[in-house]
Amino acid sequence: MTTVVPTHPDSGHHGLPTHEVVLLLQTDPVSGLDEQEARHRLDRHGPNTLPRPRSAGPLLRWLRQFHDPLVYVLLAAGVITALLGEVVDSVVIFAVVALNAIIGFVQESKAEAALEGLRAMIRTDARVIRGGVVRTLPSERLVPGDLVMVEAGDKVPADLRLVRLAELQADESALTGESVPVAKDETALPAQTPVADRRNMLYSGTLVTSGTGVGLVAATGAGTELGEIHRLIGEAEVLATPLTRKLARFSRILTIGILTLAALTFAVGLVRGEPAAEMFTAAVALAVGAIPEGLPAAVTVTLAIGVARMARRRAVVRRLPAVETLGSTTVVCTDKTGTLTENQMTVRTVWTADRRVEVTGSGYAPEGRLLDPSGAPVDAAADQALHWSLLAGSCCNDAVLTLQEGRWSLTGDPTEGAMLALAAKAGLPGTASPDGGHVRAPLPRIAQIPFSSERRYMATLHDGPGDAGVGGTGGRGPLVLAKGAVEQIIALCAWQMHADGTVSPLAAAERAVVLRAAEELAGGGLRVLATAVGGPLVTGADREPSVAFSPERLTGTLALAGLQAMLDPPRPVAAAAVRACHDAGIAVKMITGDHAATAAAVGRAVGLLDDGPEEGGGAAGRVLTGADLAALPVGDHPDAVERACVLARVSPEQKLHLVQALQNRRHVVAMTGDGVNDAPALRRADIGIAMGRGGTEVAKDAADMVLLDDDFATIEAAVEEGRGVFDNLTKFIVWTLPTNIGEGMVILVAVLLGLTLPILPVQILWINMTTAVALGLMLAFEPKEDGIMTRAPRDPGRPLLTGALVVRILLVSALLVAGTWLLFQWELADGATFDQARTAAVNLFVAVELLYLFSCRSLTGSAWSIGPLSNRWVLGGVTVQVLAQLAITYLPVMNRVFTTAPLPAHTWARILVVALAASAVVAVDKRLRRTLM
Ligand code: ATP
Repeated sequence: MTTVVPTHPDSGHHGLPTHEVVLLLQTDPVSGLDEQEARHRLDRHGPNTLPRPRSAGPLLRWLRQFHDPLVYVLLAAGVITALLGEVVDSVVIFAVVALNAIIGFVQESKAEAALEGLRAMIRTDARVIRGGVVRTLPSERLVPGDLVMVEAGDKVPADLRLVRLAELQADESALTGESVPVAKDETALPAQTPVADRRNMLYSGTLVTSGTGVGLVAATGAGTELGEIHRLIGEAEVLATPLTRKLARFSRILTIGILTLAALTFAVGLVRGEPAAEMFTAAVALAVGAIPEGLPAAVTVTLAIGVARMARRRAVVRRLPAVETLGSTTVVCTDKTGTLTENQMTVRTVWTADRRVEVTGSGYAPEGRLLDPSGAPVDAAADQALHWSLLAGSCCNDAVLTLQEGRWSLTGDPTEGAMLALAAKAGLPGTASPDGGHVRAPLPRIAQIPFSSERRYMATLHDGPGDAGVGGTGGRGPLVLAKGAVEQIIALCAWQMHADGTVSPLAAAERAVVLRAAEELAGGGLRVLATAVGGPLVTGADREPSVAFSPERLTGTLALAGLQAMLDPPRPVAAAAVRACHDAGIAVKMITGDHAATAAAVGRAVGLLDDGPEEGGGAAGRVLTGADLAALPVGDHPDAVERACVLARVSPEQKLHLVQALQNRRHVVAMTGDGVNDAPALRRADIGIAMGRGGTEVAKDAADMVLLDDDFATIEAAVEEGRGVFDNLTKFIVWTLPTNIGEGMVILVAVLLGLTLPILPVQILWINMTTAVALGLMLAFEPKEDGIMTRAPRDPGRPLLTGALVVRILLVSALLVAGTWLLFQWELADGATFDQARTAAVNLFVAVELLYLFSCRSLTGSAWSIGPLSNRWVLGGVTVQVLAQLAITYLPVMNRVFTTAPLPAHTWARILVVALAASAVVAVDKRLRRTLM
């Protein structure tokens, strides 16, 4: 049966009851499509992706490079020069313009390709039921008729007609502009209902903010509502960051200044009676030489190279400004689970009112044993408290364990995976599938209260098991099972259950015992969850309708079954990464929803806390809880947060306050997050970091950066790369500005003083173009300097160029101008021709820049300290530049075009002496600053 199903948004799926939608889409509302039919439909309908926005072709993009006021000036200059009969000059000007456009084009394409590549690295998966089995598929493979499961935090992968849901709400602002989440239900609506009010539909690209739901794919790819909008607006690429914008503005102002100066030069020349044509080309040469036209493009390339380097270290930058900001991060606020730890949970201990059970085995394999403290095996069926704890842990559970190629893998939440594996280890009936390939919740559900980070527990309602074997309490009627944070669960409990199935009141004394047990388990770094059971088993109540199943109704109706404590080992590299951050002057704070004792134990294991006391706990201590924070006056938050290293039981809303408190202290804050409710804090942080594997789509959407491996060490690596990028930007600017200033000054001085030009306009163009490409750009590939992670973070308020660097730029500019004049006069005095003296001046100019390039490879250290051969790109560039200089000096055709002449050996010796002398001055300046600082 291969069908083309109607998939346009107006197919009216919202207007039909679910059974008719099922008929229309020719699917099954319980087991979904089978694989073969799904494959056929994929062939028919194509992948579930939006068509790529049509980008301009290469020719158009190259032509776009000419759309720049400076280029207009140059083109006009070229035309006028040609009309004046200066054919060679005119050809050189046009060649420069064309070359400039090619370089701009290549740079832009490279940066865009780098960003494009990143986008492909963040893949969205969807949970689909096919042939009755839940599977995780890349969302491109969805087809109309597929049965898709969504939960809080997911990005909706296609347009869905909902068939089942619980507390489902979606943020549809991407589609409708309405920022308040919309509550969903599954009933049919009038056909003319507008998109914004179709409560029984979920639309592709919107975000699920709470609850869970199951829906049938009504439209995919371009057929979705999002596809429609996409077609209308297309997508705009932004390659700008605050820094590039600042620099672009700087170069614009500079351009105006220089053009004015050029006009002045022209006017002064004319007044002096110099030939207009010559003065005109001189003015153009001044403009071209002095304007740092390559600057914004070079900055973008440096950023793009940084982005690519970060991606290689598994940090994907979603917004380019993050690359700059990362380098100045002063505080990293990190999650615990999955970032500092492996997110591989295994239940180690089960505690009940009457006993403690240890569990063996590792990972999610349902293989292991339950042992009592003496090492004897425990029969879970013979202990009712244990049995119900395992049943609650596995029924309040959406995880599925699957045996794939001999390995057990988890679909769902690791906490739930661990509880499910435990139930299967104990042989709880109904957990393992008949073929042994799956482990899943053993009882069907009537209703549920989903887990949320605010509520910190989950509860489910089931039909009573019907076997009267539950400690003689009878098993008829609805059954409530719950699991969650210990404080939350015991707040719902009025009783506790014993091994023989009887229940006794959970009074203050018993609560204290439970809390002490939980505290002790948490002190060993274990995550502790409580399990509870309710219904006729406990209360003897009759069947209640499922609508009454709400958090309010649960309070005081449950019996505590037991505690389950699970281990999530710290990542092996976390401690080293934390140490590296500390060395780099970056504070690290763990922010977790987990218990304070668990968090403190993990904090100690990764080096966030030393073994000393937590300084009395509470607001004065280094371990702070959400409750401590709530009890403090808002004005005291910054102090307390600044001191704390571990913040536990923190709600997502408090995360936002933490970021604000730290920012009030002028910190640059990087904050990780994975849940739906983390989005505001991620947006507010200077760098919002989402988890690529464990994070929700909502978090990724709000983040500036995504960690592909969820690993804390990756954040540290990204900070290091960020610092490297900033260094390289500064190096490029410090190298390029003296070139521009020097070139401009050489001409300006000559014209204003009425002297012979030591370097001709065409030669200026030659220097400008060749050195920028062969030398300057190579700094973007500069490796990170040693010690980059042992210095303090950069103050974001500090200007890019410090006083010392400005002085150095002016010094080198002056040296370039003075050296050029000196050598030019020296050569003339020695009887050289004008052409020879100018060739010597050009070569000197390039030689000084070339040696200065090595100096710029380290902003503070000496040119030798970083290993002169450590950047092969620089060596390659230098070779090209030297060959180019030999060509312009000795090739007859080049001599004709650029009015140069071959040089004798002794002139090269002079060039070398003067260039080395200039470099020595720069080295002394650097040295003096190092010793003075
Ligand atoms: P971390 O920083 O360790 O990732 P978190 O901030 O993500 O922690 P949450 O996942 O919000 O923490 O969990 C907070 C608490 O809620 C946990 O300590 C646990 O007691 C409870 N909890 C976690 N997952 C579940 C779940 N699936 N069902 C019920 N309760 C849960």
